Amino acid sequence: MHKPFIIAADIGTTSAKTLLFNREGRVIASHAVEYPLHTPRPDMAEQDPEQIYQAVLTGIGAVVQKASVLPGQVLCVSFSSAMHSLIAVDESLQPLTPCVTWADNRSVGYVRTLKEELGGLDIYRRTGTPIHPMSPLLKLMWFRDNRPELFAEAYKFIGIKEYVFARLFGECVIDHSLASATGLFNLQQLDWDAGALAACGVRREQLSQPVSTTHVLQGLRPKDAQRLGLSADTPFVVGASDGVLANLGAGAYEPGVYSVTIGTSGAVRGVVREPKTDPQGRLFCYALKEDFWVVGGAINNGGIMFRWVRDQLATAEAEEARRRGMEPYDYLTELAASVPAGSNGLIFLPLLAGERAPYWNANARGVFFGLSLFHEKPHMIRAVLEGVMFRIHSVVRALEETSGATKEIRASGGFAQSPFWLQMLADVLGSPVTIPSTIEGSGMGAALLGMLAVGEIRDFSGIHDWIQVNQTYRSNEQTHQVYGELTDIYTRVYHQLKEEFDLISAFQQKHTQL
Ligand code: ADP
Repeated sequence: MHKPFIIAADIGTTSAKTLLFNREGRVIASHAVEYPLHTPRPDMAEQDPEQIYQAVLTGIGAVVQKASVLPGQVLCVSFSSAMHSLIAVDESLQPLTPCVTWADNRSVGYVRTLKEELGGLDIYRRTGTPIHPMSPLLKLMWFRDNRPELFAEAYKFIGIKEYVFARLFGECVIDHSLASATGLFNLQQLDWDAGALAACGVRREQLSQPVSTTHVLQGLRPKDAQRLGLSADTPFVVGASDGVLANLGAGAYEPGVYSVTIGTSGAVRGVVREPKTDPQGRLFCYALKEDFWVVGGAINNGGIMFRWVRDQLATAEAEEARRRGMEPYDYLTELAASVPAGSNGLIFLPLLAGERAPYWNANARGVFFGLSLFHEKPHMIRAVLEGVMFRIHSVVRALEETSGATKEIRASGGFAQSPFWLQMLADVLGSPVTIPSTIEGSGMGAALLGMLAVGEIRDFSGIHDWIQVNQTYRSNEQTHQVYGELTDIYTRVYHQLKEEFDLISAFQQKHTQL
């Protein structure tokens, strides 16, 4: 049977997004299923693996149904997933823990132990994952010491994508890409790193079998095949992490063309041909394929900051938007646009979830700086949006130190739905910002990788047929200068507050115990 369709399943932090592509790279149908992130304490961020598994199945079934696809017409289903998640499972692959996500900060105390007592910088240089509580390596150290019975009882420790495959195919495999984001995987050897395993006390058989990102799983159970509307022999391509796939999907793989993705979190990335780590340990290096590695830095506080504004700071305005039949984000953006660039000197440090690149400070917290009686709600909204762009700015400058000056920024993720936010990025960086034809970069990247995996394409050279640039935002020199002044103050404020962040974070931990 002719197989005109490719499905990309992207397991994000807020939702599972499924896209059905035709062979020209056009999205024929899409479906998103949201799920909650549980934060019972400020340092916890967990999800229900079963809920995510069901969301993935629902998404695949929905796009098949929406586009009236026949079983057997799908070339492959290829996967993208958020990084750094950890689930302990028993021998029957049932979860013993929730899915501990990248945003979980419980293992923060192990950063110092690993760096100062266990040769953490060397482990980073071998594994490419910065030393941070997001890293499964540190999460495992935390579980070993804080949940010893569970740690001893666990048959395996796996991530959310491995869990989905375990449920569907009964196998625990991890692609090189997600493995390279665990802090446990040796980038040169493409295998688990003995030193990292020793540091957390995990045996290699407690981890999944590493496979290439083009590895294919096949043989759906009849009831799953029926639910999904696919034939049982449809190839499931294990795929890669949403981060590296976003780069591929954005077509950002030439020198000086950096991708900026802002979904719940955010990241800046560039491509190198062999693994390359940062001597100072600020940047990550993750795999896509053996000759395609992505170097960059991630921030915790991306689009989630705008969601926080919508749900906590500007609830009345969001409600007003709904009354007017408008998307709340669009209305809040209009309010932000009603005040000048620079928010009349109100600066926001969007560090609510602690921060990763380039400062790597899990104790950092949010700050409004410069508030006066003159400032109103629109200033606060705009300052939050600007603050997120200032964070991206500091990572771009760090990446430029190792990988050269920026020629162009390719933007993707939820924030790319906002022309206002994109123009702000161009103005903050002083570089052109282009938007690839699909804003769902990770899904597009997964579809391309899927085509490669099943032998439909031989390399990514034809990528430009799939990924066109829709729009370019050019920096306004005057606005760029205003932002230049503010980013200097912003950076100073951060450094001045470094010790105070430790104090307030310790206070919060002490007074928020359950
Ligand atoms: P993830 O993949 O991490 O689940 P998304 O890529 O869907 O997240 O991005 C969600 C974020 O995108 C929201 O938190 C919000 O900040 C931003 N966003 C979504 N829609 C809009 C919009 N219309 N205007 C501005 N920002 C938006």
